[in-house]
Amino acid sequence: MIGRMPAYRLLIAAFVVLTAAGVACRNAGSAQPDLNAGTFLTNANDTLLRLGIESSQAGWVQNTYITVDTQKIAADAQSDFAAAVAELALGARRFDGLRLSEDDARKLKLLKLQLSAPAPNNPAERDELSSLSSSLKGDYGKGKYCPSANRCLDIDQASNILASSRDPRELLDVWQGWHRVGAPMRDRYTRFVELSNKGARELGFDDTGVLWRSNYDMSPDKFAAEVDRLWAQVQPLYLSLHTYVRSKLAAKYGSAVLPADGTIPAHLVGNMWAQDWSNIYPLVAAPASGENYDLTASLKRRNADERSMVKYAENFFTSLGYQALPPAFWERSLFKKPADRDVVCHASASGWDAPEDVRIKMCVQINAEDFRVVHHELGHDYYGLLYAKQPYFYRDGAIDAFHEAVGDTIALSATPGYLKQIGLIDRVPSEKGDLEYLLNTALAKVAFLPFGAVIDQWRWKVFSGEIPPTAYNKAWWDLRNKYQRVTASVPRTESDFDPGAKYHVPANTPYTRYFLAYILQFQFHRALCREAGFTGPLHRCSIYGNKAAGAKLAKMLEMGSSRPWPEALAALSGESAMDATAILDYFAPLKTWLDEQNRAAQPGLSVAQ
Ligand SMILES: [Zn+2]
Repeated sequence: MIGRMPAYRLLIAAFVVLTAAGVACRNAGSAQPDLNAGTFLTNANDTLLRLGIESSQAGWVQNTYITVDTQKIAADAQSDFAAAVAELALGARRFDGLRLSEDDARKLKLLKLQLSAPAPNNPAERDELSSLSSSLKGDYGKGKYCPSANRCLDIDQASNILASSRDPRELLDVWQGWHRVGAPMRDRYTRFVELSNKGARELGFDDTGVLWRSNYDMSPDKFAAEVDRLWAQVQPLYLSLHTYVRSKLAAKYGSAVLPADGTIPAHLVGNMWAQDWSNIYPLVAAPASGENYDLTASLKRRNADERSMVKYAENFFTSLGYQALPPAFWERSLFKKPADRDVVCHASASGWDAPEDVRIKMCVQINAEDFRVVHHELGHDYYGLLYAKQPYFYRDGAIDAFHEAVGDTIALSATPGYLKQIGLIDRVPSEKGDLEYLLNTALAKVAFLPFGAVIDQWRWKVFSGEIPPTAYNKAWWDLRNKYQRVTASVPRTESDFDPGAKYHVPANTPYTRYFLAYILQFQFHRALCREAGFTGPLHRCSIYGNKAAGAKLAKMLEMGSSRPWPEALAALSGESAMDATAILDYFAPLKTWLDEQNRAAQPGLSVAQ
């Protein structure tokens, strides 16, 4: 559910410690640089904390009570925060090259990396960047496709058609219609890239993409190579799934709709961005074993409501030995779309400074998908609760991908065995049902992998200038073909701007975190299952109720971002490198089956090309 899932809103604020920063600067060359950096950081800490909380509170009200006024208040608070971060990050440059304690050096580095689009140190350009950011995001938020004069579709309505229609003409029409939202953004996005790059250079980075890749406790080049290495690990699994799904789509829609080049048309897999293929499970289903179960129906039969959905997820965390969610969570969260006003339903989690103030905002649906999403969001909140004792700069995931992976790791333990244990289904399906379970899971988790990688493969090159504005759209489709083997069914040109039709591009949210999170959650899961003493197939393991596994996970969560991520990973798993063999282990029985199907359908086909 990446499409609807924003990153955890870390309530970091901006600061205005110009005077204090100036003092620190002038003294920075003295015999005790650590002390001065410490003073600077204390001031930065206090200012960011204050402005961050203000900005988060304003953002919360804006999202849960959308009016012209709340939007203005939130934009102002965000702008104050961004301005303060920019000033502080620039101020931090005075410590470049000085001997500092490891702790201060880490905090100063994290300070420079706070913003994904750092503003230039020039008020006019800063304002321009800020207004470009909000207009791009606003264009996406207001985006609609109107097939006729009196019928307009927002992204949720358009997505529902993509998910449920089996009429290729209707699918293509809605796909094309929504993608028109991008075209008007092109010139502003081009300018946005220029200004953001200028801000990044002033902070000492070559461009914004280099700044993003500096977030991972290794050199930017080494990080890019790590992403390539992980993609190479999982690509054969993806291609097996792609080949299988494509053959089923060909059987359904015929060769007139499927291109001869072996790719899949982007509008046929049940999702606007072809990033999650779960919605077409009925078209590609494994042979029915009679061992399936319907979690959505079970939830409805038991009269689950929004609150009880959240309670199920909380219950999982407390079974691991964690505290119950604080009373403020239940008082302040939003679980249900109010009848009397507009709210942003996009699921998210928030954490304020006070450890007891964690929340989620989500218009919970009573179905299997949201059962998983609730676990995802509570993963963010429990991470926040567990690192609350860290100083401000370390109240974050070890890296962004860890924050995204925690709740999904727990959701991987929501196995049929677990659902039986908590009384949601009546019996545990036999192993005969495993294939259906794994194929269903793969349509969400494996299908996503190349999409998780491709957005930033495009943006890194855009920020570096390797992809010029005159080739934005062509490069986008070249990369989507290369990674996803997905293509557009209608000609695309440079008068289109298809990246703009995906939220995270106009919203400027880095995306590689999701690619990594989808790999890491299986690595976390495998390690926790090992800790729990589980020895069967990974897809049958649930750590529910296992305090030893809970304690291992807590060790990593409590560290926040205080140490480089390999140490945090080692605290949980004993491993210090990201490793995709866990996701390969998990889906190994499915991979074998897919390859058999593919060979039978196309004799002579090399399935792991
Ligand atoms: Zn998330």
